[in-house]
Amino acid sequence: MSMTENQGDQTKEKKIALAKTDLKDLPEVPPSQNGLEAQGIDGGLGRGDLPRDPSRRRWLRNAGLGVAGGALACYGLSKLKVFPRPGGKEAKSEPTLISRRTNPKNGDEISLLGFGCMRFPLLSTASDPYSSQVDEAASIRMIDRAIESGLNFFDSAYIYHGGRSEVIMGKALKRHDRSDFFISTKVPTIINPTLEQAKKIFVEQLERCQTDYFDYYLLHGVTSTQKIKQIYEANGILEYLLREKASGRVRNLGFSFHGDKECLEYLLSLAIDWDIALVQLNYHDLLREYRPPIWLTAELSAPAPPSWILERMSQTDIPLMVMEPLLGRRLAKLTRKALAVLQEDQQNASAASWAFRYVASIPKVAVVLSGMTLMEHLEDNIKTFSPLNPITPREITVLERALDYFVNPNIIPCTGCGYCMPCPYGVDIPAVFSHYNDCQDNELIPKGVRDPDYERARKAYLVGYDRSVPELRQAERCAGCDKCLPKCPQMIPVSSEIARLGQYAQGLRNSP
Ligand code: SF4
Ligand code: SF4
Repeated sequence: MSMTENQGDQTKEKKIALAKTDLKDLPEVPPSQNGLEAQGIDGGLGRGDLPRDPSRRRWLRNAGLGVAGGALACYGLSKLKVFPRPGGKEAKSEPTLISRRTNPKNGDEISLLGFGCMRFPLLSTASDPYSSQVDEAASIRMIDRAIESGLNFFDSAYIYHGGRSEVIMGKALKRHDRSDFFISTKVPTIINPTLEQAKKIFVEQLERCQTDYFDYYLLHGVTSTQKIKQIYEANGILEYLLREKASGRVRNLGFSFHGDKECLEYLLSLAIDWDIALVQLNYHDLLREYRPPIWLTAELSAPAPPSWILERMSQTDIPLMVMEPLLGRRLAKLTRKALAVLQEDQQNASAASWAFRYVASIPKVAVVLSGMTLMEHLEDNIKTFSPLNPITPREITVLERALDYFVNPNIIPCTGCGYCMPCPYGVDIPAVFSHYNDCQDNELIPKGVRDPDYERARKAYLVGYDRSVPELRQAERCAGCDKCLPKCPQMIPVSSEIARLGQYAQGLRNSP
């Protein structure tokens, strides 16, 4: 289907209706009907061959899990296990912990809030205020606090924080009972691994995470059918991962998806019983009409519209993990006017809490990942999910009104994932895009020189730019090498956008 057709069949009315329909309760699949039959490829590997993990089953039995009544039951949320407090003391009264949802494919009781380990706190010192070194002690404190609050799902990837994410996550989790949490990580599609490399990486990941199995293991950042065929099928990596699943070192196999419609259809057509899919969902993308990015060319195909992804995945039995529920943190900040709409309705609820409640209320969603950098992010999220108060139809209309003051076609849809980094010439690509988007959101983009507000906006843009991006890392340093171009999962033509913003800043500096 062409891009124009994509646009044509995604009317606003249809999308709103879909988003509202998705919030209806879906029946949970009884274990006897949840597709545990073997559906493998080639050697007949599949779920039927998956060895059962006795420690996990014992934990589920002992956890005292049951279905709570009222709204919780309506949304498939389960009663919660109470974790011992650090120091061996039990809490005096049972605290309200983070809500959980049962994965219908395997019975895993997963906390609806998952810890996305790609945005750990960074060390910044007076001598190196822009360090990319992870603050290990602060990260471990956050992981401990998360576990204490009932969070039991930790998601990392081979490439996060240059490999440190898995190491720190492993170090922190090693101090807790392995049956109390789920580890999810990913094979790095971005490096185009050979079969031998993929095998080596897998073993290295187990060592880094200090575990002998992964609960969830995903093909990372799948963006095209061609990549699946080349990297995963022709190289034999998919077949290898199915063997790892049969051996029990991978309990559940899935993919993280950034591709077009054809790519998702191809993944679903493979003779693989996928256990989980990581997709990008948030209320901004689901409630508003999808518009393909303006720069799409023959080389860059249109990413599948999120509402279509949700609708298509709802036709399968594959549970969803959600990434970018905050749209690269933009939904946590919003614009002044959009925030005012939310605060008029609920004065003390954070903008982020609205975004999390929206996606977590979709029954197809098993876990919502949040890349938390500060303890205050974690505390706010704990409040939102303990327990989850599902979004109501009335609140959705409030979100729609807020979006009237937020949707902006000039935004560069960078989520700050950092996959395009490092730039060989030192450009801090996500920081440059983030500054530009902040100025768009705060109406600080200078219009023409004849605009009476031009001088104020020009100064604000440049002062903010110099503060948030050190001079040696600004867009003007871009040499146009195009190394960043193929790495962006959001299909942003990174090099040309960086060049454009470099020229823009230069123009503002030279302006009389
Ligand atoms: S095109 Fe520019 S921003 Fe991208 S990697 Fe090369 S120098 Fe860096
Ligand atoms: S430009 Fe793309 S790859 Fe780079 S940080 Fe933004 S979203 Fe990630």
